[in-house]
Amino acid sequence: GLFLKRLDVLGFKSFADRTEVTVVPGVTAVVGPNGSGKSNIADAIRWVLGEQSARSLRGAKMEDVIFAGSQNRRALNFCEVSLTLDNAEGKLPVSYAEVTVTRRVYRNGDSEYLLNRQVCRLRDISELFMDTGVGREAYSIIGQGRIEEILSTRSEDRRGIFEEAAGIVKFKTRRKEAERK
Ligand code: ATP
Ligand code: MG
Repeated sequence: GLFLKRLDVLGFKSFADRTEVTVVPGVTAVVGPNGSGKSNIADAIRWVLGEQSARSLRGAKMEDVIFAGSQNRRALNFCEVSLTLDNAEGKLPVSYAEVTVTRRVYRNGDSEYLLNRQVCRLRDISELFMDTGVGREAYSIIGQGRIEEILSTRSEDRRGIFEEAAGIVKFKTRRKEAERK
């Protein structure tokens, strides 16, 4: 399989301090009182994988993901999330045993993505995860309300979810690109 190893968060939503979440094999559960940042962790994972919708991250605009300050703490000017995956089995088509995806955004709107600390395009990240079940829309991350969405959504959209699971999205995307040429 393709395993999540670590999530590093800095300045994302409620995480003003650098925070590391280490994932051990098995089932990972995030527990904590209301408002302690459990859902923010799930948001961070979707965000680093390229989520573009501020609303689906429970904000109004993209800069709402940056720590907005608290009573005794100034707001930050940027945030950064890194997701590290174990690629020992080579599930991702790159020769690294460990893959780290990083996304950074500044309040002025500048942003960047990195793959193993090299600047890249969002497209590179999307392609890397296509058909692996890890993408930002992938079935491996089921957020609050998502189950309902899957059940109630238009059948075409629902089919997309199962197609990703079946691993044929990459094929269809390539065909679409070929047709455009
Ligand atoms: P629940 O159990 O109610 O679902 P939770 O643990 O999932 O709670 P989250 O939704 O992850 O909680 O966290 C909500 C907290 O994150 C709120 O206190 C909110 O103020 C804080 N928060 C969200 N965005 C920011 C931001 N940009 N800056 C600072 N704090 C933020
Ligand atoms: Mg929550």
